[in-house]
Amino acid sequence: MRRTVLITLDGLRRDQITAETTPNLVAFSRQAESFACYRTVFPSCTRVVSASIATGCFPARHELQGNSMVLAKNGVLVPHDAGRPDFLQHKRKVTGRSLAVPTLAERLSTVGGAVVFSNVSPGAAYAHDPDGYGHVYHRAGSFGPERVPAAEADELRIQPDLAGDRMMTERFIREVLFEGRPALGVLWLGDPDATQHNHPLGAAEYLEPLKQSDLRAREVMEAVRTLRAAGEGILLMIGSDHGHQTATEVIDIEHDLVAAGLKDSEISRDIVVSSNGT
Ligand SMILES: [Zn+2]
Repeated sequence: MRRTVLITLDGLRRDQITAETTPNLVAFSRQAESFACYRTVFPSCTRVVSASIATGCFPARHELQGNSMVLAKNGVLVPHDAGRPDFLQHKRKVTGRSLAVPTLAERLSTVGGAVVFSNVSPGAAYAHDPDGYGHVYHRAGSFGPERVPAAEADELRIQPDLAGDRMMTERFIREVLFEGRPALGVLWLGDPDATQHNHPLGAAEYLEPLKQSDLRAREVMEAVRTLRAAGEGILLMIGSDHGHQTATEVIDIEHDLVAAGLKDSEISRDIVVSSNGT
């Protein structure tokens, strides 16, 4: 069977891909089809992009439109963190659906299936398959079809760091590439995003996570090469969901709205502010 493997290096900016920082990605891009005009969706947040990768749709269509979102419940605006494990389950209860369009996991459920390993926020991981058609592995809980929880021995016990990405990649290669062989395997690394949240762009602290994430990609490339040599047809795609920028100031929109007389108080529900970043 022909199958597809997708690796996402979360938070990898295009200009971080250089011969010095990510030699394996550079080598891969020279052999592969490289999409220089590729742009992510807006807003370019992990949870939103996860849902867009899963559905092939822009945020307005799949409805996961921010890292946090406001849902109206009984006419009252309620802010939610879309990264929480139960967000899309809650959204289904309130609006009648988790995502508004089918995911790849649903489309592939009868033709080889999908398995997702993700080391970002639970909300982003579960956006790949909120209705339980395939398998999603995440440290906050792993689920199989019909969202049946994985057996205890099968849980993904990792931290959202470089060591966690390494352990997850080992499992992905063994269980998805060599054993399960689903039509779609997704490996979504938490770095270089996780490290970059704490440092300005270009900081020396970047170099190790870039190097490590590049090595994770190489490990998958090598496994795919082995499988191809044995006759398997595998489409390997490597990409990122967004880059980062250095924030030097945070604008307190709630405070400014109240000061301008447009909102009753910072905690009032007449106008609710929904942040898309940190
Ligand atoms: Zn991200």
